[in-house]
Amino acid sequence: MEIYEGLAISQGIAIGKIRYHQMPEQLGYPHAISNVKQELARYQNAKEQAVEQLNDLYEKAAAGGDGQAVSYKRQIGLLEGTSFSRAVESMVSTEKVNVSYALVTTRDGLADTFSALEDTVVTDQIDDVRQVTERLTYILDGLSRERYILEDPVIIAAEKMSPSEVMELDKSKILGFLTQSGSALSHTSILVKAMDVPSLIHVPVQAQWEGRLCIIDGYAGKMYIDPDAALLMDYKKWQQDEQKEQEYLRSLKDEEDVTLDGHQVCLYANISDLEDLDSALENGAGGIGLLRSEFQYLGRENYPSERELFQTYKKVAQTMGEKRVIIRTLDIGSEKKEDYMRLAEESNPAMGNRGIRFCLERKEMFKEQLRAIYHASAYGNLAVMYPMITSVDEVREIQEMVREVKKDLRARKIPYQDIQQGIVVETPAAVMMARELAREVDFLSVGTNDLTQYTLAMDRQNPHLKDRYRQHHPAILKMIYKVIQESHQEGRWAGICGELAADTVLTGEFLRMGVDMLSVVPSCILPVRKEIRETVIHDQDKSR
Ligand code: PEP
Ligand code: MG
Repeated sequence: MEIYEGLAISQGIAIGKIRYHQMPEQLGYPHAISNVKQELARYQNAKEQAVEQLNDLYEKAAAGGDGQAVSYKRQIGLLEGTSFSRAVESMVSTEKVNVSYALVTTRDGLADTFSALEDTVVTDQIDDVRQVTERLTYILDGLSRERYILEDPVIIAAEKMSPSEVMELDKSKILGFLTQSGSALSHTSILVKAMDVPSLIHVPVQAQWEGRLCIIDGYAGKMYIDPDAALLMDYKKWQQDEQKEQEYLRSLKDEEDVTLDGHQVCLYANISDLEDLDSALENGAGGIGLLRSEFQYLGRENYPSERELFQTYKKVAQTMGEKRVIIRTLDIGSEKKEDYMRLAEESNPAMGNRGIRFCLERKEMFKEQLRAIYHASAYGNLAVMYPMITSVDEVREIQEMVREVKKDLRARKIPYQDIQQGIVVETPAAVMMARELAREVDFLSVGTNDLTQYTLAMDRQNPHLKDRYRQHHPAILKMIYKVIQESHQEGRWAGICGELAADTVLTGEFLRMGVDMLSVVPSCILPVRKEIRETVIHDQDKSR
């Protein structure tokens, strides 16, 4: 038996076999080849497989009305045509280099030549070349793009994983999660927490764990490989007891979020996709307090169409009915990005072109999202909020765009509602300007994850700072109080949607500060509900 320690980011006991997550190799590096004919045959073979995969994808996408279908069709055309392949084959033959290097070089050459052109047809073609190249290199290197498909439930062990890789996992097949790198507040960890399975970070993951039996103890931050029979029995027993506690929590599913002295609060869920929506409902969420909309843009090869966005928002709005759903507009940047977004390299991406800055720079893309949100507003109780705001000017610029979007919808006779607009308060500047910002919108919601990193000047992703990174820092609590108070003074409501909202040690304090909404990962709703229902606020001023 082997025992390791880590940092628990989700509690509970998991018992199961490990599936070691292979990191994709560094593809496209040059090496000399001696047999050109054989290399060209490899290319031919990979091309056939790619066309087959794309045909499947095309059929599925076309049947589901997915906008990606057109792009798959174009990629098939590219592979079946001659010009792209001729460029690749000629490089392999004349320079005697491996085909994956020839592919990457051809792709980069085309992208450089046409990068200055803003014509959408050209941009689409460059995207097609990039996607086709990626698919071919995966096939050539024996890595299937379907590597995330899992047959039996497993514990995933990975050295590291990006948010988009986590998004591609089939959540119903995950028993637990182990990673070597990462931090409790990274977006990868936030997504893992939403899966509601025990997980540890900072464990020394090894390839030879593949297929071995493992216990994750998400209470003690420990894990065991090949546990002995007695230990296994103890943990199985513990797992059963855990289920009893879960049953008690489940009995609170339809109960109100009200304190012992009758103070009502909104307890909502943070979600990233439609699977999380199911989980929010199963856990009795009173609404959706944060829909992290950027995840619909990740794990794919180009921007989702306005229609796709609209369909998702409509589905969430309809599913939640009268319950409020707050969509946070695209918060791309930092570690949440994809090649197709063509974000420049930055020395400090967390302080770079992210969130609202990225959206105000790419106005057409942003307007598509706003249009999709307003279009979907006719189907439920939607609200919208904007991330990474630092000034009143940014809010006014957004609102000008919102006016244009509404005008556009009216011209197309598309019904919409004048939904509430809010701001994610996650920069110290927004805290200092809380009162002025509150006057511009309907509500403020404190994003404690980023607010903590920007206030303490400590990267939320940096594992070396984990002992110094204090989310309970009095500076953060004072900031939350200031935001709530000033929102109320301006007649607005205020919530908390960062991870701190789920910390039951602070629930009483937040309620006493007068918070109107707490929004937490679905798995934390019931424990927080239990805490709210056991709290007494004592005659605090409840006026808003
Ligand atoms: C936050 O920063 O607290 C927040 C809710 O946003 P995210 O974690 O997605 O950055
Ligand atoms: Mg944030």
